[in-house]
Amino acid sequence: MGGPDAFARMWATVLTETGYVAMDHRGLVDQVREYTEVLLAALRSPRFNPVPVEGVGAGLVALRLTASRALATSLQLIGEELLRVVDTPDLKAERLPAVQGAFANGFATAMQYKIFRDQEAIRRAALDARRGAESALLASEARFRAMFDQAAVGIAIADARGVLVEVNTALATMLGYQVRHMRGMNVNALRFPNEPAAMHQPLLEMSVGERDHYRMERLLRRSDGTPLWTDLSVSLVRDETGVPQYLVGMFEDITERHLLEDRLRHQANHDPLTGLGNRALFTERLSAAFACGGDTRVGVCYLDLDGFKVINDSLGHDIGDDLLVAVAARLDDLVTAPGRMVARMGGDEFVVLIERSAGPDELVALAEKILAALAEPVPIGGHRLSVSASIGLVERAVVGATPAETMRDADVTLYWAKADGKNRWAGYDPERNAREVARFTLSARMPAAVESEEFYVDYQPIVRLSDSKLVGVEALVRWAHPEFGRLGPDQFIGLAEETGLIVPLGRWVLREATRQARRWHDAYGSRAPLVSVNLAARQTEEPNLVADVATIIKAANLPPSSIQLELTESAIMGTTGGPLQALHDLADLGIRIAIDDFGTGYSNLAYLRHLPVHAIKLAGSFMEGLRDGAEADPADAQIVTTLVALSHALGHEVIAEGVEDPGQAEQLRAIGCDSAQGWLFAKPGRPEEIERWLEV
Ligand code: C2E
Ligand code: MG
Ligand code: MG
Repeated sequence: MGGPDAFARMWATVLTETGYVAMDHRGLVDQVREYTEVLLAALRSPRFNPVPVEGVGAGLVALRLTASRALATSLQLIGEELLRVVDTPDLKAERLPAVQGAFANGFATAMQYKIFRDQEAIRRAALDARRGAESALLASEARFRAMFDQAAVGIAIADARGVLVEVNTALATMLGYQVRHMRGMNVNALRFPNEPAAMHQPLLEMSVGERDHYRMERLLRRSDGTPLWTDLSVSLVRDETGVPQYLVGMFEDITERHLLEDRLRHQANHDPLTGLGNRALFTERLSAAFACGGDTRVGVCYLDLDGFKVINDSLGHDIGDDLLVAVAARLDDLVTAPGRMVARMGGDEFVVLIERSAGPDELVALAEKILAALAEPVPIGGHRLSVSASIGLVERAVVGATPAETMRDADVTLYWAKADGKNRWAGYDPERNAREVARFTLSARMPAAVESEEFYVDYQPIVRLSDSKLVGVEALVRWAHPEFGRLGPDQFIGLAEETGLIVPLGRWVLREATRQARRWHDAYGSRAPLVSVNLAARQTEEPNLVADVATIIKAANLPPSSIQLELTESAIMGTTGGPLQALHDLADLGIRIAIDDFGTGYSNLAYLRHLPVHAIKLAGSFMEGLRDGAEADPADAQIVTTLVALSHALGHEVIAEGVEDPGQAEQLRAIGCDSAQGWLFAKPGRPEEIERWLEV
């Protein structure tokens, strides 16, 4: 490892080869060594300041290292060698492009000033030559000649019509002519074909005296037809009366700088590993596609390899890289139509942009082709790697949409394809998205909602069928959502189970319900209703369930038998091990256990015998067939009869749910069902409404 000195020596040597250096070699090395320190400081500092680095670019111009090659080779050396030669851990490699950019910028700006100054000098010399006395004329003409012939920049003097009167060797060489061949040529002959007409305008204005100066980058035509990029600046020289007499033009060859810019632009827009366009290029093209407006449609096919991390971790990053290259090549082969591009978004994510899409079908067809192309194993390093991808498709009119929304939707859709089982495509579905956003919004707010008591509990009467007396109530949770209004449990209980929030929420409901039970006990003594509380399957898996329940009931100072816990059939039946033990422990505490929605699952009635169950709640769906008239279904009546008989035989009480009309109640009574719950008696409501039942 050579350090900054070695780099500076290398740099100085390279610079010497680009042109004449007005300094001895040691001096140059010292100077370049200082510049190296500036670059290293820029690569180290936590915040990037371009100014000192621009100073280094300008420094080269000050050393008269003005050839494009001096810039090009310096940039190359900085890019390729600096980190290699000076490798200390605090250097930030990712800073390199910014450093190169600032350096090139400093160089270009300094060059512009220099050309301007040179031009002024020539113009003044030309003026002096014309205006001065005879002797002075001779002297200044000599000065003029010297400058003219030795200048590194190309210089041309034309008359007002544009006929070249004089050109210097530098210009003739740039254009591939002999000086003598150029004299008498019209400047128009140097134009590159197809140059936009606007480029000619300034020169026309100058030849009629409407303009004194102009400067622009222009493309000229070399004698062999090849293009020459120049930085051209032209000044007008008038005679004593102000009539345009000469045009003095200065040309700097910036072809290499242009090529370099092209290369840098390419580098900035392409992924070095796969050669595909990168995120920056994709974003630019996507924005351009949206800018078309009108009835243009655009499609995005967002793709992520399945399980790429495993390949990377198990077979190493080299194999991983090879795989990405192979995938990129397959995608590139598939996407050839104009207005379609593949880009690598980073990692194992790729995207296909479909400008002016013909409709969703086109995207689906493409996605199918991609999945098929990837299904073929990839031979890499002696392995045959199988790879698949998940693809999110978004296709829409550009009007009314934005690129950012589109990419967000593509990302969501890709996630669906993964969640739905991978190796597939998914299409964007605004309704699914709205549902998920709502779910997400709800689950995000839920923890705070438990804290801030946005939940409340309604109670629904459970009525004894023999005498229509209130025997119990079911506690049913509701959410007074500040934005969405009142939400029923069907809208959030499932979500709470998925996120695990059902545990604190369920605990809160139980505490709230036992407090209410306490109040009723205080007010009505033995007439107080049994309070039945729902328990989610997820809660029975909580190791602390029994202790929590015991604590809550104890805190309310209630007899445990005044509380009933409802578990759904599937939660109870699937219960083994820890949860089953918990159920027994709860029953041992004296708490009643009920099976909720009985008959909707696959109950093993024989198994029921071994469970600590006190009551069965018959699912509301059986009540349909117990209605009078056309809806009456004798099968339902038969099933209910059998279930009631069976439950009684096992010693379980039976509560019918969802009783909505008197006919149902009548049949249930006849069958011998113990109690019932439903809109016929009351809808779930505030605790005060329950009190009306107790006061009569
Ligand atoms: P569930 O335990 O079977 O509760 C009975 C549901 O039937 C309640 O719906 C109730 O309002 C409704 N209902 C009552 N009478 C009738 C009727 O005559 N006809 C009809 N069609 N429906 C009737 P809700 O309040 O929407 O509760 C739905 C489910 O949410 C409950 O079903 C229960 O599984 C769950 N749930 C409610 N609160 C809690 C809770 O605190 N914890 C847990 N884990 N789940 C709860
Ligand atoms: Mg229930
Ligand atoms: Mg139920």
